[in-house]
Amino acid sequence: MKTQTRLAIAGQRTDTAYNAIVPPLYLTSTFRFEGMGQTKGYDYTRSGNPTRAALEEALAELDGGAGAVAVTTGMASISTILATLPAGARVVCSHDCYGGTERLLDHLAEQGKLVVDLVDLSDPEALTEALRKPVDLVWVETPSNPLLRVTDVELVCSEAKAAGALVAIDNTFLSPVFQRPIEFGADYVAYSTTKYLNGHSDVVGGAIVAATPELNEIIQFTANCLGTVAQPFDCWLVLRGLKTLPLRLARHEENAHAVARFLQDHEAVAEVYYPGLEGHPRHELAARQQDGFGGMVSFRLAEGADVAALLTGTQVFALAESLGGVESLIEHPATMSHASMREEARQTAGITHDVIRLSVGIEDAEDLLADLTLALAAAVSKIERVALVA
Ligand SMILES: *Cc1c(COP(=O)(O)O)cnc(C)c1O
Repeated sequence: MKTQTRLAIAGQRTDTAYNAIVPPLYLTSTFRFEGMGQTKGYDYTRSGNPTRAALEEALAELDGGAGAVAVTTGMASISTILATLPAGARVVCSHDCYGGTERLLDHLAEQGKLVVDLVDLSDPEALTEALRKPVDLVWVETPSNPLLRVTDVELVCSEAKAAGALVAIDNTFLSPVFQRPIEFGADYVAYSTTKYLNGHSDVVGGAIVAATPELNEIIQFTANCLGTVAQPFDCWLVLRGLKTLPLRLARHEENAHAVARFLQDHEAVAEVYYPGLEGHPRHELAARQQDGFGGMVSFRLAEGADVAALLTGTQVFALAESLGGVESLIEHPATMSHASMREEARQTAGITHDVIRLSVGIEDAEDLLADLTLALAAAVSKIERVALVA
């Protein structure tokens, strides 16, 4: 069956009591035993819950993994995977990863629990160099956040494997509909389901898909041990969101293409970052390893343009963090999504004051372009004033 078919009917056969079309929400913390040591498969919701299991099964299948665990947040997917590592393990991570990922790694390194190196993994030479020293885990975000650098997943996986390291890919920006890292040799795929998977900006959640039964056992054990597992109601909402994922993504992408092309030709814009543009330095790699380019577009404003005027000048794009919901959002990574990153790490990653990130929603493209036209005009009117004075 094709993805859209599988998703539309995901969880449909799970209600053996009444054959409900929508998987029931098991809002219960505990389950009655039928006798000593005798359950119907579940005993306590932290250890397992049928609603969570329905979501986990759908996610594992989508990514071609052996199993999945739904966790409380995207950060919980990262902290759960990191908790499987031995003390003092070395982690190599994309240098322009999600701000919260950088903050967590930095925190664990400061506590002496991990050794962390942030590396531009989209650069094959930097990758090889980083893997010369012993390494336990390579954490990759591709396309990266917010500058949409694209890393060769197959290359990272083969080099990491040769170095004896596991590879985890944060696939939040693309979802399994557009990228399935396990097919290229990844060991774990991590998600913030808050974003495209749920897609309606009403849940904060995460998930980990494991490539093999052994790794699945490790993450199931660790999530239960730590208590990072997701709540049943959140799982129920994410499962509902999943049913329309391919439809939503197709529209997100169509609109993102239109926005990227529009920005490319705009005088107030110095540079556009969207892997779907032919001018993107890794466009061909993205076309090869991805089934779509996604709905995230970032850009650098021209010198002298007024960042604050742009951010407050939109009506359709809401000034807000997060991404992947049906509504378009605009944000300023340096002071918002990536404010938690150390200043030095932010500079190295190129996340300067002039970078703007858009999560392009599913609205009508003409309305989106009209909205940006007005806001960019407000941002450049200052340049013209400066030019006049000069
Ligand atoms: C949002 C995000 C996270 C963190 O997810 P939360 O659900 O906010 O904890 C991790 N990685 C990426 C790429 C994200 O966009």
